[in-house]
Amino acid sequence: MKIKILLYSFITFLTVTIALAFTKSVYAKQLHVVTTYNYIASLTRQITGNSATITALASAQSDPHFIVPKPSHIAKLRDADMLIINGAQLEIGWLPPLVRQANNPVIQPGNAGFLDLSQFVKMIQVPTAVSRSQGDMHPEGNPHFYLDPHNILLLAHAIYDRLCVTAPENKTMYTENFNVFNNNWKQKLAEWDKLMQKMSGTNAIEYHKLYDYFLVRYNMTLVATIEPLPGIPPTAKHIASLEKVMPNVSLIFQDVYHPDDAARYLGKKYSKPIIVLPHDVGATKDATDIFTLFDAIVRRIAQ
Ligand SMILES: [Zn+2]
Repeated sequence: MKIKILLYSFITFLTVTIALAFTKSVYAKQLHVVTTYNYIASLTRQITGNSATITALASAQSDPHFIVPKPSHIAKLRDADMLIINGAQLEIGWLPPLVRQANNPVIQPGNAGFLDLSQFVKMIQVPTAVSRSQGDMHPEGNPHFYLDPHNILLLAHAIYDRLCVTAPENKTMYTENFNVFNNNWKQKLAEWDKLMQKMSGTNAIEYHKLYDYFLVRYNMTLVATIEPLPGIPPTAKHIASLEKVMPNVSLIFQDVYHPDDAARYLGKKYSKPIIVLPHDVGATKDATDIFTLFDAIVRRIAQ
């Protein structure tokens, strides 16, 4: 008998819980959010929970500077309540024509439905004069700022603020979710910072200037890049200049989308480890969300 009563109580509790959860998600305003990259989608999901459909346009296996436009991208942008971009010209080569063709006034720059995350961080490698010294690809400075895990909190806050403007009726839920994220992220930051301590002072090279914010954060030194300038493939002369610095290099960073022949040549010749790093959520199998993206990067470097 007692077991029966307990069972009934449990079933009632379960029904009420499910009904409450269902009510909460049904009455939350459902937003259609489009993001350019997967890391932004994952970060936005932390705050919206299930109250939004979120689509990332870029494939995580591609060079973020050069995403191949598809008709489906235009359709997604046409239906969007919000468009969240990385900015700092990372999308300049592929996004503007898509936004124009989508012809959706809500997500045009300057409107509440458009959010440029680069406005919320301190950029590095900003050219002091109009010059090509940083190549053609980083004319406003280095746009890969989200690869410093400490910047993620600033970006999350910017997304949270804008979601509250776009769907004020969901503000209580967004605030709850943001606070949970904020606490969890701070715990992970402490963990990553501790693991990275031992890497302080280490010299590294990378293919593209992708991990510069991460290197600066953890007091590592970027000795050289395999590209002579962002977007310019290496020449034999440039590889020869890299050979001169290789004895002082401890690690070679390689992303998933650039050719790795130069890294393999230098790694083999100078017996230096090549570390293949994800640059976005989904770029490697273990980088499944914004948390595991940094777990994966830190684990590979500080193993
Ligand atoms: Zn770049």
